[in-house]
Amino acid sequence: MAKQPSGKKHSPSRPASRAKTDPILTRQSMAFMERYLNNASPTGFESSGQRLWLDYIKPWVDTQFTDPYGTAVGVINPGAKYKVVIEAHADEISWFVHYITKEGFIYLRRNGGSDHMIAPSKRVNIHTDKGLVKAIFGWPAIHVRNGKNDPAPSPENIFLDCGCASKEEVEKLGIHVGCVVTYEDEFMVLNQDTFVGRALDNRMGGFMIAEVARLLKERKVKLPFGLYITNSVQEEVGLRGAEMIVERIRPDLALVTDVTHDTQSPMMNKIQSGDIACGKGPVLSYGPAVHNNVLKKVVAAATAGKIPFQRAAVSRATGTDTDAFAYGAAGVPSALISLPLRYMHTTVESVNRQDVENVIRLMLATLGSLKANEDLRYIK
Ligand SMILES: [Zn+2]
Repeated sequence: MAKQPSGKKHSPSRPASRAKTDPILTRQSMAFMERYLNNASPTGFESSGQRLWLDYIKPWVDTQFTDPYGTAVGVINPGAKYKVVIEAHADEISWFVHYITKEGFIYLRRNGGSDHMIAPSKRVNIHTDKGLVKAIFGWPAIHVRNGKNDPAPSPENIFLDCGCASKEEVEKLGIHVGCVVTYEDEFMVLNQDTFVGRALDNRMGGFMIAEVARLLKERKVKLPFGLYITNSVQEEVGLRGAEMIVERIRPDLALVTDVTHDTQSPMMNKIQSGDIACGKGPVLSYGPAVHNNVLKKVVAAATAGKIPFQRAAVSRATGTDTDAFAYGAAGVPSALISLPLRYMHTTVESVNRQDVENVIRLMLATLGSLKANEDLRYIK
């Protein structure tokens, strides 16, 4: 579909004048974004990131709680009967130490959809009880390879070198089977408006829902329902944190945010993945898990607020926490607002600043349009 509402809605003076009255990202929020993105939050080991996030949103919510596996929730109007969730996931893909050879090399197992293709020559942090230990993905030199023995990286042949000559030496550093491994790449900005880093999938989501909480408070918005700002763990291994928290909250409606593929860069296939572009706004998904009545409200809010958006069609499932909310707690009307992103599951995931701001604007506008106790059933 058209990725943006027609040009008529975007008179040249509009964005500039709105930028003055409707600021989204402040210096303070950018500082939090950078801190939050650079902190490692591997699937199953998200606690330090969740702590950062809870501390940041504390001033903007009435109360907070966590569940046994670390999903973190900030609540506005905790006494209200009608409950709305805005959700993102906190975890990042990583590796597990799986096998240490007697020569001191380390083989790994995936924790989430980590990409073996990008591993050779990357620097990593191994998370141990003694703190972070540095290591590198080694790879045979180009000089000693030829067309015949040129190996393609695979989970079976990529390995870590941590400067040790034996298994004993590796263990002395505090490394054992089960330690998690993350890339060391950190946040940077390209050409002012492109945010780059590892695990923008989906800590950018956690950042955006935190900003929604902040802006609701700063703008003194009174909501007629309870708002549960939910940062779920373990999405990357099958939406597990969302499956847990939906039963605990049992919300009446959920707005989920995650990332989706931009398809404008080389070697992407629009026939396979649709026509989605960074910079053209949040992406709204159509699919069975997405509740049409909620989606209509999101579209209406975008149109009324002159917020650009794009559309995507999903097949069986959205592949995001939306599925866990939709199909949990006996069925929760849910919609998905996605942030377009390039190079998913690499260490240079990239998003556009305006898209980040427009996801936040769209969530705010949608929340502002919701009433409590609305019957959203298709058939009444
Ligand atoms: Zn992911």
